[in-house]
Amino acid sequence: MPNQDKPARSDFIRAIIEDDLKTNKHGGAVVTRFPPEPNGYLHIGHAKSICLNFGIALENKKGVCHLRFDDTNPDKEEVEYIESIKRDVSWLGFDWGEKLYFASDYFSKLYNYAIDLIKMGKAYVCDLSPDEIREYRGTLTEPGKNSPYTDRSVEENLSLFEKMRAGDFEEGSHVLRAKIDMSSPNLNMRDPIIYRIRKVHHHRTGDDWPIYPMYDFTHCLSDSIEGITHSICTLEFEDHRPLYDWVLDELELECHPQQIEFARLNITYTIMSKRKLLELVQAGHVNGWDDPRLPTISGLRRRGYTPDSIRSFCDRIGVAKTNSTVDVSLLEHCLREELNMSAPRVMVVLNPLKVIIDNYPQDKTEEMDAVNNPEDESMGNRKIPFSREIYIEREDFMENPPKKFFRLSPGTEIRLKHAYYIKCESVIKDEKTGEIIELHCSYDPDTKGGWSHDGRKVKGTSHWVSAQHAIKAEVRLYSHLFNTQNPDEGDGFTQNINPESLMVLESCMVEPSLAGTGAGSRYQFLRQGYFCVDTDSKQDKPVFNRIVSLKDSWAKIDKSKKQ
Ligand code: ATP
Ligand code: MG
Repeated sequence: MPNQDKPARSDFIRAIIEDDLKTNKHGGAVVTRFPPEPNGYLHIGHAKSICLNFGIALENKKGVCHLRFDDTNPDKEEVEYIESIKRDVSWLGFDWGEKLYFASDYFSKLYNYAIDLIKMGKAYVCDLSPDEIREYRGTLTEPGKNSPYTDRSVEENLSLFEKMRAGDFEEGSHVLRAKIDMSSPNLNMRDPIIYRIRKVHHHRTGDDWPIYPMYDFTHCLSDSIEGITHSICTLEFEDHRPLYDWVLDELELECHPQQIEFARLNITYTIMSKRKLLELVQAGHVNGWDDPRLPTISGLRRRGYTPDSIRSFCDRIGVAKTNSTVDVSLLEHCLREELNMSAPRVMVVLNPLKVIIDNYPQDKTEEMDAVNNPEDESMGNRKIPFSREIYIEREDFMENPPKKFFRLSPGTEIRLKHAYYIKCESVIKDEKTGEIIELHCSYDPDTKGGWSHDGRKVKGTSHWVSAQHAIKAEVRLYSHLFNTQNPDEGDGFTQNINPESLMVLESCMVEPSLAGTGAGSRYQFLRQGYFCVDTDSKQDKPVFNRIVSLKDSWAKIDKSKKQ
């Protein structure tokens, strides 16, 4: 579960909240919200916002965090997304309790607020076409000009808006706009549209509404209706804050939350936009929203990431006011740190080469003692069967090794982890292809457990599995989905997709202790990395995802930074 204590480090948002508590600004209440639009699956950027909003609520005595679906755009929204978002927030360890809201539940209230604005002469119905509206808006360097409909009477506006609501007009023929200032340096204040006509079915309100409120109008009012104290959002909304405040000020609403912006999370080799993720999914570049290569929460979960590692990552990156890009190796580091302590070690041969130990008895099987996790004695030991025929990693043998190759080669001796010393006596090859089919070795019975009694040392240690006892498995090796650190550079992100981001190994051999382990179980495959049982796993054919390799490039980066 997430920590309820204050986080180790504070940030400018927590500092604002602390000040507000000191001055009793909101009577001691801290009400935040996480407001996803249900138009895609959540990604790790959302996790940052979730950890921040729910985290702040947990840290404060009278803290609450709402989960609110910002469902005002019925074209792109689906029930599937709502369910996935709920699942992901829960999985991350956060609980919204009773505080589940939908902006669509406020449609009537929002409509009445719009009427209030019209009555105050602060909103008007505009008949310009979308192109004309754009034209009239001006640019960053030129002011806009007033719509010819700006000065319609309150009565006319009310009657037209009612007709819009009744469904009397075509889409695109009318909009309701706030009457602010067409020459404002802030484009968001140049009479922004607050209602548009959309004759589409909504997943909650059905066909009740032919008009839908715009984001900027909906969001501040939803915050106010729910009694939000601190409305935390990403930096791109900074320029929208004057509009946020304008709506609440004009309507003189008692609850006027403070909008605070922070930098969104960007990660190297990763794209973080639902629209682009959807494109990857729809174009079949990946296998669905939970493809383990995606930065979606469901992809990370399937890959084998833990909620703790994601929360720890979000805690470490902190909250700042300027945008930056975080190295993906930090995320991997957070996971390794956890799995190093919690994942049992097992032996799995990814690319098997048969080894026959000629001087080992034909029908004998020994149970070798192996510790489950050298970092944590309480995880105990297990037995691994050893017999005459075993598999080792193909890359652990070389017939003509270069100087610094310390693994097996003709005439050399290595240690089999937890078992014996073996020495390679001969190599059997396919006559036609020259491919090595099997090795013949001898073992030294006096080296049981992998230690010699005469002080004889070996340079290499290999992992292995007993051929007769091993289980065949599929292992999926993942690398970055994109070739470049910033996938958006160049001709667009799909041009930068790494064609080798998924490598499937069909004939891996895993030790028998892994038989029947359920999806989501995580292990360290000795010398290979951390792996997780995939949901595609079957009783007779386990499937594993490589979560991360063992090599920790973040530790290196971190060290060089400190020097
Ligand atoms: P995207 O740009 O990926 O489509 P979005 O901002 O449109 O995301 P919303 O559903 O509107 O997605 O986001 C819900 C909340 O999550 C918002 O408050 C938003 O600011 C926050 N959020 C989205 N992306 C990030 C990110 N990369 N880092 C931090 N917070 C984010
Ligand atoms: Mg958005």
